[in-house]
Amino acid sequence: GLRYDNTMKLASKLVLLFLFCLGLVVGVFSFLSVRQAQQLALAEHERHAGDLAATLQSALRAAPRAMSEVQRVLIASSEEVHHVRLRLVNPHLPFDRSLQPEVPAELVIRATEITTFSYPDDSGQDTMYTYVPLDDMAGTRLEVSAPQAYWSEQLSQSLRRSAIALIAVSLVTSLVILLGGLWMVGKPLDQLVEKVRRIGEGDLSGPVKLRRGDELGRLGQAVNQMCQQLEQQRARIASETEQRLAAVEQLRHADRLRTVGRLAAGLAHEIGTPLNVVSGRAELIASGRLSEADIVASARTIKTQSQRITTIVQELLNFARSKTPHRATVDLNSLLEETLTLLRPMADKRQLSMQLTPYPTPALAEVDSAQLQQVLTNLLVNAQQATAAGGRIDVSLEVVAAERIAAALAKADVTQRSEEYWWITVRDTGPGIAPDVIDSIFEPFFTTKDVGEGTGLGLSIAYGIVREHAGCISVDSQLGVGSAFHVALPVGK
Ligand code: ADP
Repeated sequence: GLRYDNTMKLASKLVLLFLFCLGLVVGVFSFLSVRQAQQLALAEHERHAGDLAATLQSALRAAPRAMSEVQRVLIASSEEVHHVRLRLVNPHLPFDRSLQPEVPAELVIRATEITTFSYPDDSGQDTMYTYVPLDDMAGTRLEVSAPQAYWSEQLSQSLRRSAIALIAVSLVTSLVILLGGLWMVGKPLDQLVEKVRRIGEGDLSGPVKLRRGDELGRLGQAVNQMCQQLEQQRARIASETEQRLAAVEQLRHADRLRTVGRLAAGLAHEIGTPLNVVSGRAELIASGRLSEADIVASARTIKTQSQRITTIVQELLNFARSKTPHRATVDLNSLLEETLTLLRPMADKRQLSMQLTPYPTPALAEVDSAQLQQVLTNLLVNAQQATAAGGRIDVSLEVVAAERIAAALAKADVTQRSEEYWWITVRDTGPGIAPDVIDSIFEPFFTTKDVGEGTGLGLSIAYGIVREHAGCISVDSQLGVGSAFHVALPVGK
């Protein structure tokens, strides 16, 4: 319906335009030809009148007294020819009423040559009066009159003929344009519109079939070609994406393997040491050569060492569990607040103040909230452990442009960059981190804490999690002033 209407609209516009032009041309042409016909008829009429006057003149010259006789004959003969009347007139003789011209005398007096006037006659009918001066006849003129209607009749006849021709031509042409428009433009246009609509919906199949050499045909071909190219591009992009994904997946796998390898190596060392201690002490106890007090001391050592192993295993289990992330849209403000609330009792116990500067609006991010909470917990616990009583821990959430944290992103080897990042800062007033160890703190099992207090896994786990979220962790620290850990997470669109 709609497309059909549009075609009809187009065709009607064409028809209207055409009719307008046709009317203009025919109108101008008719006007010119009517004028020409008028002029020709007038010239013809005047020529006839002139001839007639010349004939009369020679007769009158031969018998000057015959004028009234001639007048009578002229009037008598005019009775028989119904549209042309002939009379002799003399405007210079106002007293002879029979010689007065029908047109006002002064006009006729002024006309020294053959002249035609259009003037109403006695009955009010428009009439053409032609006056031909007769030489040597004391101002006598031959008056030839014909009713204008007679002329107009002929003109209107020819006008009518033009009008009929115009209407006939217009009708035929309009019909041809409408039908032709529908057939030549409407149908292919429908097909093209349908095709483009399908392309818009992502369906590139089924090329439009327009077997014609005109512009629409070529448009159809171009559309088909475009679809082909789009299809090829789509296929290429799909395969490239697949390859890239596979590559990324492989890299991730390799990354994980490397981490696991490092973990395993570290684990062998970390668990190996307490295990050695445990088995050594157990052996000592088993030998039965120890005193009661030594046995108790050894048993205590065995307990702390196995506790250490338990802690390590627990952390590893946490890490292993984090392998299947459950991403969801989370408000980072709320997440930070929850985590701070969880850790506030610990801060109070250590007499530390802890405050959050949230982002002014909800800070939505696509993250695994459990994993991210673990990251924040690790950072906050580290900060609390590092900070002496009376110190403060400030947590803030901002947005930064990628350029501003380019160094951190580059260091963490983040390739797939977002334009903006959520920027979580955990700042403490602790002792700071020595420059010679600052590069090692993210490594698994790196710790400066006493046995039982730290496993050295917290930051490496946090690092892994944030990397999984396409972000990075970095640290700024100044000895004696404090440390600031930053977590950058991509701001989703
Ligand atoms: P852990 O806390 O078990 O030692 P982490 O991987 O969490 O393991 O931390 C590694 C090391 O980084 C810590 O032992 C400590 O030396 C240093 N570190 C971490 N956070 C801070 C901090 N806020 N201030 C000072 N040093 C820190």
